[in-house]
Amino acid sequence: MNVLLIEDDDLVGEGIKVGLQLAGMTVDWLKTVKNAKAVLNQVAFDVIILDLGLPDGNGLSLLRHYRERGWDVPILILTAYDGVVERVAGLDAGADDYLTKPFDLDELAARLRALQRRSQGRTRNLIHHGALVYDPAGLEARLNGQAVDLSRREASLLQLLLENRGRIVSSDRMQDRLYGWSEGVESNALSVHIHNLRRKLGRGLIETVRGVGYRIPVEKDGCH
Ligand code: CA
Repeated sequence: MNVLLIEDDDLVGEGIKVGLQLAGMTVDWLKTVKNAKAVLNQVAFDVIILDLGLPDGNGLSLLRHYRERGWDVPILILTAYDGVVERVAGLDAGADDYLTKPFDLDELAARLRALQRRSQGRTRNLIHHGALVYDPAGLEARLNGQAVDLSRREASLLQLLLENRGRIVSSDRMQDRLYGWSEGVESNALSVHIHNLRRKLGRGLIETVRGVGYRIPVEKDGCH
């Protein structure tokens, strides 16, 4: 899941970034309305965390700006403990959920997963694909009922492909997903991870679309 975090507090932002990365998410962190606008015009995110009190403006105005343009990426707002008025204004302006500071990082991660799930029309958290079952909450895959040992990067790439089943995911987009991982000594080479995923999950799962990217085809019997 690609998360955009818009938060000006260094301590809060760092905590969220590290916590969500441990939960298998890729986090881009910006601190001003100006930078957020610039990035949002160029990059697509799965979900946005928006602090309302920002140094160069109110997060609410950013929220209204995008909702008025019919832009529907899920947005969770962060508000102060006593910010009832802000919270109501945020929800009325088109926010999908909110958390009050201080909050629990596990709860934040769970709410983001729920927002993404709803935006994709999935009511259950597990993704089924033939003999493969993937759990985005645990970054775990089972093949024919057997647990498959995946690294965080492998799991993150597999999830991206499963969420876009039947569509080509460009190599650039997959590289972006890997780029967010700064910890660990695993390779960042996309082809290495694809090779490992095929070795662990069977060669037929992921198709290479030459010069473009990769795809998990929709199952032929149409069920999922
Ligand atoms: Ca703030």
